[in-house]
Amino acid sequence: MVDLKAQYSNIKDEVDKAIQNVIDNTAFIGGPEVSDFARELETYLDVKHVIPCANGTDALQIAMMALGFKPGDEVITASFTYVATAEVIALLGLKPVLVDVYPDTFNLNVEAVEQAITDKTVAIVPVHLFGQCADMEPLMALANKHNLHVIEDTAQAIGAIYTFSDGSKKRAGTIGSIGATSFFPSKNLGCYGDGGALCTNSDEFAEKMRVIANHGQRVRYYHDSIGVNSRLDSIQAAILRIKLRKLDEYSAARQKLAAAYDQAFGGSGKLVVPARAKNSNHVFHQYTLLCEGISRDGLKAFLEENDVPAMIYYPVPLHMQKAYTDERYQNGDFPVTEHLCDVVISLPMHTEMQDDQLNHIITTVQQYLNK
Ligand SMILES: *Cc1c(COP(=O)(O)O)cnc(C)c1O
Repeated sequence: MVDLKAQYSNIKDEVDKAIQNVIDNTAFIGGPEVSDFARELETYLDVKHVIPCANGTDALQIAMMALGFKPGDEVITASFTYVATAEVIALLGLKPVLVDVYPDTFNLNVEAVEQAITDKTVAIVPVHLFGQCADMEPLMALANKHNLHVIEDTAQAIGAIYTFSDGSKKRAGTIGSIGATSFFPSKNLGCYGDGGALCTNSDEFAEKMRVIANHGQRVRYYHDSIGVNSRLDSIQAAILRIKLRKLDEYSAARQKLAAAYDQAFGGSGKLVVPARAKNSNHVFHQYTLLCEGISRDGLKAFLEENDVPAMIYYPVPLHMQKAYTDERYQNGDFPVTEHLCDVVISLPMHTEMQDDQLNHIITTVQQYLNK
């Protein structure tokens, strides 16, 4: 699905040197690589504060801890997402409230969010799924009207740009109260292990999140609040600094590959190519087709037989997962999500796709369509 080896081989000298440099300086935790990376990501995102942490799941958890939510508070998020989003809500004793998504962009349905708001609701967590922003302008208006926080799960969309109706633009993760992202190796900005970050324009939230991520201490061995241990290590930060400088180039390579897939499959009548959101560009964390006229599982099996990897993101809606079943929900409650889980298929998407690989993928899919 991704070719991290080919990407590494193009930046090997720089990466090897940066890693060696961290080892030579024995600054494995913290130090200049981590703070320099945070400052560079602030500049890239045009946001006041970036707080690195250990992974994207921690980032979501730290955000919710910093906002001071209490057990029983309700947090609204999408039923069609990766489990991490709902997991941290449940872990903190908050109540995940799931809502359906739009059938074209796969992002949070704003009208459904509005209907789900109660007097216990404290936050909305839009997930910028597969690389394009949820519809943030109406979502922010709704959140402001009801005095709710918005925590953006931007693990799949770092670098994506949302355009407001007045023409102003903001990067994914910098629109709500807090943005949470992941540097898992296969993400658009991935390190060579685990990593994550939070971003915010609020000095107050930034300070709280820094303290929480560091065992609740402002001064060493003085613990003002209950925190966690969540750090980005220095080797990962050094690698991320190199890859951040290439992020726009990587996004452009993904968009070019998506355009080639669109061209190949757009007229097939059996596959629906990814819709583009009206107010967001798409950085294609995933290129996800809908099998509307053919068997999705048949296509997946045929691709596998012909050495084309393909993945189903996601096969089971959150409300139908064993861990998240709840008397509030039953099969049929979120028809869009449930349908998507039956028809989505994601093709290989990465930054160093070779022409012969691309041709093999396209001809294999077309062979199945013509069977
Ligand atoms: C990857 C991902 C996360 C979690 O990130 P980790 O670094 O793996 O903890 C959270 N939300 C979404 C939407 C993701 O894709």
